[in-house]
Amino acid sequence: MLITLTCAMPNAPDIGYVLGKHPGSIFMRQFSAGTVWVYYPHVVDEQVTVALLTEIDPVGLVRGPAALTQLDQYVNDRPYVASSLTSVALRVAFSSALAGRCEARPDLVGRSLHWEVTIPALNCDAGADLITRLFTPLGYEVVAECLPLDARFPAWGEANLFYVRLTGEQTTQAALSHLYVLLPVLDNAKHYYVDAQEAAKLLAHGSAWLTNHPERDLITRRYLRYKRPLIQQVESSLARLLAKDDEAPETVDELATEEPLKGAHDAEPHEIVQVVSALEAPTPTETEHDMDAVEAVGKAPVETVAIETAKATVGEPPEQRLHDLRLQAVMEAVRASGAHSLVDLGCGEGRLLVLAITERSLTRILGIDVSSTALARARRRLHYETLSDAQQRRIQIALGSLLYRDKRLEGFDAAALVEVIEHLDAPRLGAMERVVFGLARPRRVIVTTPNRDYNIRWAQPDQPAEAVRLRHGDHRFEWTRAEGRAWADRIAASYGYTFEQRELGPSDPDSPEIGAPSQMFVFDLG
Ligand code: SAH
Repeated sequence: MLITLTCAMPNAPDIGYVLGKHPGSIFMRQFSAGTVWVYYPHVVDEQVTVALLTEIDPVGLVRGPAALTQLDQYVNDRPYVASSLTSVALRVAFSSALAGRCEARPDLVGRSLHWEVTIPALNCDAGADLITRLFTPLGYEVVAECLPLDARFPAWGEANLFYVRLTGEQTTQAALSHLYVLLPVLDNAKHYYVDAQEAAKLLAHGSAWLTNHPERDLITRRYLRYKRPLIQQVESSLARLLAKDDEAPETVDELATEEPLKGAHDAEPHEIVQVVSALEAPTPTETEHDMDAVEAVGKAPVETVAIETAKATVGEPPEQRLHDLRLQAVMEAVRASGAHSLVDLGCGEGRLLVLAITERSLTRILGIDVSSTALARARRRLHYETLSDAQQRRIQIALGSLLYRDKRLEGFDAAALVEVIEHLDAPRLGAMERVVFGLARPRRVIVTTPNRDYNIRWAQPDQPAEAVRLRHGDHRFEWTRAEGRAWADRIAASYGYTFEQRELGPSDPDSPEIGAPSQMFVFDLG
């Protein structure tokens, strides 16, 4: 599936800065449903065309349960039509441009440019009319031509497929966000689990233009796959934004993370968090272990299964045992600091909290997570309802985000971030750093994250290290130990901490170059 975007302006190749893709190179990345490439088929001074090519693995998609993939045929149209999978590929390829970030040429980010987008086959169950109704109000001239089912057999009639050309003056971020949100809306079939995070994505990428879009309700309904609680939350959030249009913006104080998120969300970021935290995701949680299950069956079946098999054959510790080791190491580091209070940031289902509650020296414990479903499980795991009043005062569990200043996070001796940071994408990582190390400032911060050096253990024969997939579909990165150290060095220097980097999990003394499966950083306020 190929989408092309053509931009006409003087010095047009400079658009490469905004897209984060050099016109002379080819970008390739594997993602949950296949592979995405970005390249420039046409580059002259006054016009460039950038192509987004996705190769979807149709068999891999089908191997997931129908509930997740909504597909039951190995031979399906997904590789050939623009769909929600193209939208995922778009985000993989152009994440910084979608977030409106471009350090090299910030002047270009806010500039309206002349764009022409061509989609040779777009799936839409509701006719050319809907395509026009969605894109025209956003300032595009729209061409949408229905394609025959098979050009050789006109009697077979027309398909639900359209050749689409969109022409308009748009900022790069706007053009990409329109496609990102509207391709799945037109396709009307998401191929991944729709939960609170999807509502947050819709707001992050759509709120700037959705509030005034005449088809706002239809877009929200179809994007969120008719899930009523999600729709209601997004609608009320958009209505609040609309009401706020005339009011003064929030003060910077109220939005600790305004700066890093400015580009990512044209709307007030706290609105987005409110939605994420207020929502009850109906089925599996977003936590690591459950996501593993969703991921393995629904999103990246072929490769994930391969990794799982490889793991088993080299006799790795089962993930659960490794996680127990991690948690014990973290508790040991808490104990060693003499901490009396602990905040578990991104506590998930409360596995660390269960250990913490048995630690008598801890008189105050708080677990914070953005997923209400995970927190419900944490409560069950701790038998929270049956704890005495005194214990309930001692240990608390609360919805919250690490990306926004939150007074509740302040005043703790120790903080833990266990397998959390790799779930945050780059601009949000900066927000978390400011919130945790800059504002909450616990005396000790313990961070664990995978060690990418170790991933080579899961490589196929002859597969280069860079080609080994990340361990989990929601991981935004996995650092080598050198990358981890560089990050920790920066944190220590910026926020006045010292740190120690440790290996976590069993390692092979004969392979020091790959180390142990996880890495841990223990930061102390200097
Ligand atoms: N620390 C737990 C869970 C790790 S999974 C454990 O070790 O078992 C990562 C967790 O981070 C998930 O529960 C996810 O909901 C949470 N998370 C992701 N982004 C977050 C954010 N911005 N604020 C708070 N929690 C977040």
